[in-house]
Amino acid sequence: MRKRNTIDSAPHDAMKISIRYKLFLSHFLAIMLVSGSIGSYFYSNAIDNLIESLQSRLKYSAALLSYSFTPSELENIRTELDVESEEYRALKQRIEALANTNPDIEFVYVMRLEGNAVSFVLDSDTEEPALPGEVYDEYIPELVAGFEVLSVDSEITSDRWGNFMSGYAPLAGSDADAPYLIGIDMRADEVAEKLSDLKQKGFLSLLLSVFLAWLSAYLLSKGMLTRIRHLHERCQAFSPLTGKVRLHGGDELDGLGKAFSYMMDSVQATHEDLERQVRTRTAELEDINERLTDEVDERRRMERILQESARTDYLTGLINRREMTNKLNSTTHLNESLALPFCVVLVDIDGFKAINDELGHDIGDEVLRKFARTLLHLVRDTDETARWGGEEFLIYMPNATLEQASRESERIREALNALTIHVGKRDLKVTASFGVARHRRGDSWETTVKYADQALYRAKAAGRNTVLAAEES
Ligand code: GH3
Ligand code: MG
Ligand code: MG
Repeated sequence: MRKRNTIDSAPHDAMKISIRYKLFLSHFLAIMLVSGSIGSYFYSNAIDNLIESLQSRLKYSAALLSYSFTPSELENIRTELDVESEEYRALKQRIEALANTNPDIEFVYVMRLEGNAVSFVLDSDTEEPALPGEVYDEYIPELVAGFEVLSVDSEITSDRWGNFMSGYAPLAGSDADAPYLIGIDMRADEVAEKLSDLKQKGFLSLLLSVFLAWLSAYLLSKGMLTRIRHLHERCQAFSPLTGKVRLHGGDELDGLGKAFSYMMDSVQATHEDLERQVRTRTAELEDINERLTDEVDERRRMERILQESARTDYLTGLINRREMTNKLNSTTHLNESLALPFCVVLVDIDGFKAINDELGHDIGDEVLRKFARTLLHLVRDTDETARWGGEEFLIYMPNATLEQASRESERIREALNALTIHVGKRDLKVTASFGVARHRRGDSWETTVKYADQALYRAKAAGRNTVLAAEES
């Protein structure tokens, strides 16, 4: 019996990672990649949208406010000394009121460009206002552009008042030589707050997508492993003799591969085994079949011999008395109904006892055999010759009249008389006497044979080597 092996798929695979973790990792990464790409696309889109909406609000608020003041009413506000003027106070009140209309707006201010110098004219700040004529020495390209067109900061800017994002618009009716702009500051803290709010939501959705990715990767890899294990068990069930591969640790696909390969070995071995058995069985059956055929042939041969020996005489090879009796039984009635004449002839060897007595029984047998063969050779094909008993023979002559049968008997007798039988070194002359009888309608064949016997008896009495027919009354 083959040894049962248990092969561990793990030992040298210890460094390998379970297929479950591989599947988990690949699923997880794939889902994260997709959800991350989509998430970051929407996130950056949302940030851009937020900034853009802030910028457009700043720009169009600035555009609205560009009609709040006219260059002519600002013309006289040039130095810090002008703050005492009634004109400045009125303008200052107006700009503070403007700033208060919108809670998003921190400061509103008006600036003048002279040569390359940018200086303040008005400022809504109540605590630390920029004074008229105060030069603003930070260089902000969007601010400079704001003297000609609507413009907005592309990023958060810092100055002594803090961190801001600002929008700028040239004052309506502003002169190209000495242009004015109106600026709006929005506190960057609020912008940052909105951004951090967005980031928080982004982070939360990132956490949620990590969790969902983990969950779906876990379920997918688990389902896959369950299928691998199921397949592995089925492979094991198929290879009970060749070996067992345990599935733990390492790469389960390797384990499955080995189990499959063992299963194939097992299937192959079983297949070869079956083929061998079939070949052996076939050879055995062929052998048995051959023997049976031989036996059947032998039996048939024996049957033929038995049948033959049942109907023939072992010494002379002629049909025996039983067979001739059967024949006479079956043909007598048929011949009568067809009105066909037939004759029987009894032939008895003359002085046979003397041959036996003088030359021995074996020679007697030999003489009988040769006499029978000669007789068979002499009678016509239509006639039938049997050994009737001892040295006596019966010839059945169908479709023959008494005269025809007598003539036929005479021909045979003469032939026998002319014959010399060679036995050993001796040449013997053997003659026979014939008694012929015609079957008469209504008689049994036994009666006809009895008449033939009577004729034979008379032939013997008449000196032997003679043919005599039964007397008909
Ligand atoms: P007949 O001319 O009156 O017929 O005289 P016969 O001697 O032929 O007749 P008989 O009836 O006196 O003798 C027949 C002998 O044939 C007797 C018997 O021993 C012998 N015989 C019968 N069957 C066989 C046989 O199968 N083999 C041998 N060798 N002799 C046989
Ligand atoms: Mg005799
Ligand atoms: Mg006799």
